[in-house]
Order: sequence, then C-alpha cells, then structure tokens
Amino acid sequence: MPADSKGIGPGGTIGIIGGGQLGRMTALAAARLGLRCHVFCPDLNAPATHVAKATIAAYDDGDALARFADDVDVVTFEFENIPADSVRILAEHVPVRPNWRVLQTAQDRREEKAFFQTLGVATAPWRPVSNRAELTTAVEALGCPSVLKTARLGYDGKGQVKIDRQTDLDQAWQMVQEQPCILESFINFDREISVIVARALDGATLCYDAVENRHRHHILDVTTAPAILSAELATQAAEFATHAAMTLELVGLLALEMFITPDGRLLANEMAPRPHNSGHWTIDACQTDQFEQLVRAVCGLPLGNPARHADAVMTNLIGDDVLQWRMLLSEPGAHVHLYGKDEARPGRKMGHVTRLRPRTNP
Ligand code: AMP
Repeated sequence: MPADSKGIGPGGTIGIIGGGQLGRMTALAAARLGLRCHVFCPDLNAPATHVAKATIAAYDDGDALARFADDVDVVTFEFENIPADSVRILAEHVPVRPNWRVLQTAQDRREEKAFFQTLGVATAPWRPVSNRAELTTAVEALGCPSVLKTARLGYDGKGQVKIDRQTDLDQAWQMVQEQPCILESFINFDREISVIVARALDGATLCYDAVENRHRHHILDVTTAPAILSAELATQAAEFATHAAMTLELVGLLALEMFITPDGRLLANEMAPRPHNSGHWTIDACQTDQFEQLVRAVCGLPLGNPARHADAVMTNLIGDDVLQWRMLLSEPGAHVHLYGKDEARPGRKMGHVTRLRPRTNP
C-alpha cells in the first residue's frame, strides 16, 4: 500500500491544487521519489499539467474536486486562494496538508497581520480599511507614504497603491476596486529577506538559510543565498518562521517574507504556505530542495537535510528574459529551469536560472 502509518511511499499519489510552475517543480521532485502527482487546475495548458496527470476544472467544481480527492492519497497546494468550501470537500475524502486554518490565514492580509501580532512578530504599522471613510482615517493615523493593499488576491504587487500626500484618495480607493484592504506604512527598508521552514507530520521542523530578495516592478527578480545577516538576525528570522509554522500546526512549507529596517529590525511582510519563488535556488544548491521537502512533509516522510552545499544567485526569467534561453544554456555553470509556458507576456514568470558559487561560512 502506498499510504500507511509510515507515510505515503513510492507508488502513492499527491494531489496538487494549482497548475503553475510551483506544482510542476513539486511533481518533478515527487517523481524522483517514485511518487505520482495529480494536478487540479482550471487551465488546460498549465505548466504542471505537462508533467503530471491533470484534472482541468474550476476550483469550485465540487464533483470534480470529489473525484480528484478519491484518486489521491493526500492533497497539497501550490496556490492558496482556493474557496473554503472546496477545501472542505477535499478534506472529506483525503488528508489536506497544510490545513484550512493555514490557508485561511494566508489568504487575507488582515488575518495574516493579526496572526503575526499574536505571535509577537513585528510588522509595519497597519490598519484595516473596509470603506472609503476608513481610508481617510487610516491615512490620518499612519501618515504618508503608505501602501494600500487589497486584503485578498494580491500578489507580485497587484492590488497595491502607494499613497503619498498628493494622492487622490477617491482615485486610490477606485484603483483597489473598493475592496476590503489594509493600509500599511511604507517602510524604507534596507533589504528584504525570506526564510522557508518545513514542518513534518510528526512536528519536526527544519529551515533553509535566509535569503535576500530584490524585486523589479514588484516582482521577485534576484534571490541571493545566503543573505548576509548577523547571526542574531538569521536566528531570529528562522525562529519567526518556525514559530508561525508550529502555531498553525502546518504540515508542509511556510515561506516568510520580511523587511530589515535601517536600524536592523525584522518586520514580517507576508507568508505563503507553499513552495516559494525565493526557494528555487535550493534545487541546485541544497541537499534537499524545497519541492522534495514539501513532498516529504505532506507524505508523512522524514524531512531531508536542507543544508546548502553552495552559495547561489537565482534570477527569474520574466517575460522576454526567457528569449535568452539558448545563450543561458551555453553558459558554463548556469542551471536553467524553464516552465514550458508558451507566451512570454510582460511580468510573467517563464523560468529561472541559478548560478552557484563556492559555499561561504554562515
Ligand atoms: P507584497 O505583495 O506585500 O509582498 O509586496 C510586494 C513588494 O512590494 C514587497 O516585496 C516590497 O518590495 C514592496 N512593499 C510591500 N509592502 C511595502 C511596504 N509597507 N513598504 C515598502 N515596500 C513595500
């Protein structure tokens, strides 16, 4: 039997909600361990469907979800914005890892910020904004500059408006489509970092080294591993992520993005309960990469060693960047990963390239 009290072994099937590159790379890692994947997503040609069995259906198609859940031994996510009812249907049939509480917290910036506060992890000062009048009050309370972010469905800077003294608040409110939001003080951060923690079914946790992230047009551009940090900050970042994963009883991966302020403090920005773009370097530079680690965790298998055997710089290939693929393939030492997307639209993540350097001491 693929699934027993010792976990889901070779021959077992992992159900993945979402068909993007994160699902694709998870399926490739699962295949190395003799596991199969079955992807559930609405797009016929999504990257993960090229490498795994797929159900193409809407995320709220209850019948399709039930049939899918009957075909797999466990369900995980490469995308967290799935409706609550869909998760309930899945959970009636099969273990769902990570659990609904984790997804619910990560789906809504208000819940997420409140959660960080309950953990005692500092964030940028923020206020919930649910109508136009509350936007005025929040801007008065926090001052300018600040950032208005939709509470739900924002990623890669989508659903965000920077507010300064000249901003017309009526217009800003229209730009976020009058949706529930948070207003957050704009942080003149020194650097942005992230940490990925894995938590196993038995509660064991392991962290990857903290990395530094640079964004271009709000989209992750370059991740440098490891981040150059004091031992104190590196420990604190790992502790925050681990504390969050333990409190949520998460089984799987949790990526925590943080700002480092000019006076050297960590502020949590957001978290994602799934593999993360800032962890792609682990494929080429760690003993066990983030995708295999997710597979191990959700299958109830022992976690692998996340140690870094090399330093790494991971660069996303966004939009037309991917047209350089031939040149990159002939670059000695460049590890090229392409996601099989047919159209290189601006802002679309088409692949990434990781360049390794000899490991420095932590
Ligand atoms: P988010 O969707 O919250 O991860 O935001 C995307 C990016 O926008 C972050 O990685 C930062 O580079 C930038 N950003 C978000 N919030 C703030 C903030 N409060 N102050 C300054 N920059 C921010």
